Amino acid sequence: MLRVMDRDRTVRISVARTTALVEEARARQGTSPTATAALGRALTAAVMMGLDLKDDESITLRINGGGPLGTILAIAESDGTVRGYVGNPEADLPEKYRGKLDVGGAVGTDGFLEVIRDMRLRNPFVGRVPLQSGEIAEDLAYYFTLSEQIPSLVSLGVVIEPEGKVGGAGGLFVQALPGADDELLRVLEERVLELGPISHLMQEEEPVKLVERIMGDIPFDILDKREVYFRCRCSLDKVASIVTALSEEDIQTALAAQGCLEIYCNFCGEVYVFDQDETRRLREGAG
Ligand SMILES: [Zn+2]
Repeated sequence: MLRVMDRDRTVRISVARTTALVEEARARQGTSPTATAALGRALTAAVMMGLDLKDDESITLRINGGGPLGTILAIAESDGTVRGYVGNPEADLPEKYRGKLDVGGAVGTDGFLEVIRDMRLRNPFVGRVPLQSGEIAEDLAYYFTLSEQIPSLVSLGVVIEPEGKVGGAGGLFVQALPGADDELLRVLEERVLELGPISHLMQEEEPVKLVERIMGDIPFDILDKREVYFRCRCSLDKVASIVTALSEEDIQTALAAQGCLEIYCNFCGEVYVFDQDETRRLREGAG
């Protein structure tokens, strides 16, 4: 993941290649092609927005348009890690046309895109905009422009291979800062459109090469460069604290049905299993 700015500090470009992390999310959660594309776009957007974070801050992207996928959640940390899930990972729709997944239809447009910036000590900042197309990139561009007053060109894409795996994934933000020259923006936009879908570019191109193709002879500086990963924050300790907080009735129902307590992490697919004795010990310990 890379962020650059022109020498006049009026245009900011962020590029990320997220193929491996989106494929990891797919493999862990068994998402359908359409769900993989939607989740992959959200994970990519969130990890790129994470470039704005300091130390232990985090950013959450939440999308719910009332479509068959349900809520899509992606949470990024300042260290280039991101996690996320889709409410209905198996939901899928027929392609809009050959090779074009119907992400907009699967997400829906009857709802909002929300951005929650958790700045730890201060109150979280929450911004929300009504969904425009459910395709996520267009919705995020609308969010940046309306909620953060940063006119932005947003491109997000995921290529799904015939067997359902992720062949390429990536994102591109071109953002106009105060004082940006209209002519410069027009040239950059033209070059981005000429490049074609970001997901295909990311199958072969290094992020820095992509920036060079967009910037051409415009001098720029690299502001930030970092690796990106899918990483969940769940742990046995966190799950144990959930076990102590559940109602006795829920615990007894689960133990009676399965003989043990199984807690599934939506983000990474990890299953935590507690047998009767462990469950009792945890709850008595919390006593
Ligand atoms: Zn997890």
